[in-house]
Amino acid sequence: MTKYELPELPYDYAALEPHISGKIMELHHDKHHQAYVSGANAALEKLAEAREKNDFAQINLWEKNLSFNLGGHYNHSVFWTNLSPEGGEAEGDLLEQIQADFGSVDALKAQFTAAALGIQGSGWAVLAWDTLGGRLITYQMYDQANQLPVAVIPVLMLDMWEHAFYLDYQNVKGDYVKAFWHIVSWANVADRLKKAKENYSGIIA
Ligand code: MN
Repeated sequence: MTKYELPELPYDYAALEPHISGKIMELHHDKHHQAYVSGANAALEKLAEAREKNDFAQINLWEKNLSFNLGGHYNHSVFWTNLSPEGGEAEGDLLEQIQADFGSVDALKAQFTAAALGIQGSGWAVLAWDTLGGRLITYQMYDQANQLPVAVIPVLMLDMWEHAFYLDYQNVKGDYVKAFWHIVSWANVADRLKKAKENYSGIIA
């Protein structure tokens, strides 16, 4: 069985300072993300065992564990590459799509920030390509997978779990989100939007 693997960070732990500390990045990647990868692999193994024994008594547990841990693996894999020390600006097709769907980059940032700060408990703020409507939307994801509509493709994700910011910002989430905007790799967001449009358009209707 193919195992999920922890991807390397595309930069050094301290590369995003002063916006996100090297200490957080090391813990977040090496411990938290690794735990999701291990959890997803464990859930798949348990499901394989259940099939071998034809005993699905614990199916709800393993399905929940797979969803949660695979969600964590997906989300962090997107999040790391959404960030870069260089930051940048939205341009080209990404800029046009943002203007069409939100009016302006500033309006998108205001909506995304409000969604991020409004999350109750642990979750993610997400900018995603809606393959059905052909538009960018924002949404709040609870835990690692809840409130995820089918066939929307995340292009920008912000981790709003306390482990993502508490060492640097304590309870001041607003400063964490402000710092995030300095290190968004808009080139990565643009690349993700291009791939989503090319590869996923029309998969629902
Ligand atoms: Mn996290």
